[in-house]
Amino acid sequence: MSKETRQFETEVQQLMNLIVNSLYSNQEIFLRELISNASDAIDKLRFEAQTHTELLEGEGDLHIRITPDAEKKTLTVSDNGIGMTYDDVIENLGTIAKSGTAAFMQALEESKKSEGIAPELIGQFGVGFYSAFIVADKVTVETRKAGEGEAVRWESDGLGAYTVETCSKKEHGTTITLQLKEGLEEDFTEEWAIKRVVKQHSDFVAYPVIMNVEKTEALPDEEIIKDSDGKPIGETTKKFRADETLNSMKAIWAKPKSEVTEEEYSEFYRHISHDWNAPLDKLHMKLEGTTEYDALLYVPSKAPMDMYYTEKKNGIHLYCRRVFIMDDCTELMPEYLGFIKGVVDAADLNLNVSREILQQDRLVRNIRKNLVKKTLELFSKMEKETYDSFFDEFGAAIKSGIPMDHDNRDKIAKLIRYKTTKSDGAYVSLDEYVANMKEDQEFIYYITGEDLASLAGSPHLEALKAKDYEVLLMSDPVDEWVVQSLPEFEEKKLKSAEMGDLDLTEVDDEKKEAFKNFMEYLQKQLDDEIKEVKLSTRLKDSVSCLSGDAFGMSAYMEKIMKASGQEMPKQKRVLELNGSHALVEAVKNMFETDAGNPVLSDHAKVLYDLAVISEGGRLEDPALFSQRVGELMAKAI
Ligand code: ADP
Repeated sequence: MSKETRQFETEVQQLMNLIVNSLYSNQEIFLRELISNASDAIDKLRFEAQTHTELLEGEGDLHIRITPDAEKKTLTVSDNGIGMTYDDVIENLGTIAKSGTAAFMQALEESKKSEGIAPELIGQFGVGFYSAFIVADKVTVETRKAGEGEAVRWESDGLGAYTVETCSKKEHGTTITLQLKEGLEEDFTEEWAIKRVVKQHSDFVAYPVIMNVEKTEALPDEEIIKDSDGKPIGETTKKFRADETLNSMKAIWAKPKSEVTEEEYSEFYRHISHDWNAPLDKLHMKLEGTTEYDALLYVPSKAPMDMYYTEKKNGIHLYCRRVFIMDDCTELMPEYLGFIKGVVDAADLNLNVSREILQQDRLVRNIRKNLVKKTLELFSKMEKETYDSFFDEFGAAIKSGIPMDHDNRDKIAKLIRYKTTKSDGAYVSLDEYVANMKEDQEFIYYITGEDLASLAGSPHLEALKAKDYEVLLMSDPVDEWVVQSLPEFEEKKLKSAEMGDLDLTEVDDEKKEAFKNFMEYLQKQLDDEIKEVKLSTRLKDSVSCLSGDAFGMSAYMEKIMKASGQEMPKQKRVLELNGSHALVEAVKNMFETDAGNPVLSDHAKVLYDLAVISEGGRLEDPALFSQRVGELMAKAI
């Protein structure tokens, strides 16, 4: 195919400009990113080669090679990994497939505004390849997919366009050549600079990172020219070139804990997670017996910004006797613990496993069960302060374990935390809640909704507050699923403050009778909006509120479903009136003595609108409401 010139996608170009300009003070990370891509490419080849051995094309020596050229001012990183086809190249090096890119770019922009660019952002998002343009003004990629005959050359100066053409390449894999810019922080063709950067950022890469370096060796005695006293004249050493492996490839998970330093633990975390923040906690274990494995797991200190909306990467890496099997082994951790990073090395695993087989594998299932148990234990043992900050980051994930992991539901229930009407912004566990329950209190009360402040002030809680009962404030969408899957905790039933009867007090029959006609009138007036009108047992100070059926859908749930694009029939709810409120009394009075008054029906609507507003809802016609209230106030004043 002849040479083709193509434009980068707009987002790619924006991203490149951002990376190049923002990360200029942290230039060396480009090498880490290229090495990590090379290592991923070799992983992929090995995985494929388990079922297609011919792909290795005769040589099993998988490695990454760095070649500096001081004269030409180039640096080349090459691997004999999976390589790319023509289409792969266009797909991977010209577009951004990731859905979180917009969010990433926004985060970059913001951090730039405040305290300067946060270098960990780039690692977290793994913008990888494009970081080459931090140091290069021209990048050439030559690549051949293993098993294919044709190779591809891609070239760009990072300024809007790139070219692609076919070429030939002897070995499969990818070679990336950077034409280095003038005036960089450091000369990246210097051997010692390369050695330092590889050691610092890529020491745990599982394949050898090789460079041909100059070495010095003592000359054998017979080759040293000496004077008559036997003193050497001239050289005693000779220089020669040889390959050197720059990284240690240490499998620290396989070592006993006592032999691993804290520094190694954090470095290894950085390596597998691409996260520059120190981990919050770690778990290093060795299991012997029927299920034999080593595992080194980490709890990140910050949730990645793409946690909820892109595919998760770099979760658990699976090894078998130090041989890499696969990245992101979702079979070893349930989805709700998908934020845990680490390595599992299972001694008895079949090397030729595919993902489908893994799910069936009894050994894998046993390991998973055990890892979940240990991980939940780790959370439960964290100091309160650490745990709170952990929960701020990963609370929603933990909570989603309640509907997802039935076997561990009770353990997870002990791990969840809520702010409450009494906790003053602090987290309360369900155990603490139960311990603080009033003597006559039968239920664990909760309310769900969008934001904490309006929940805390919700009229639904008035009667509960009057009894001095604590209420859990649930403001996370996942809480709706939590309460559905957790009917009780320590034999105390959970009860919504917003739905069904609160069973606190009864409305006496006499009062019911007195309101009967008025309520029938309201029901007629508001028939389109509500299902029923009744006297409330929830309200103390507010005029009115809306409540749901004990088994219906909460207002918040309805909102979530709508937001997620679900077609929903309008859920009619119950209008509850505060029978002791002066406004309610006054409207009732007008109904009884002046039923022909044309403003009566307006007043009825206001009773409903007030209920909508008090729970932070949206009125269908806010202008009409303010007009009505305006007129009422004018008359009253
Ligand atoms: P990421 O590595 O986070 O996916 P990059 O921009 O670094 O993002 O790379 C984009 C894609 O290009 C990779 O996902 C991979 O498919 C491909 N790629 C990059 N480098 C190589 C390489 N050395 N060998 C094979 N494929 C590569």
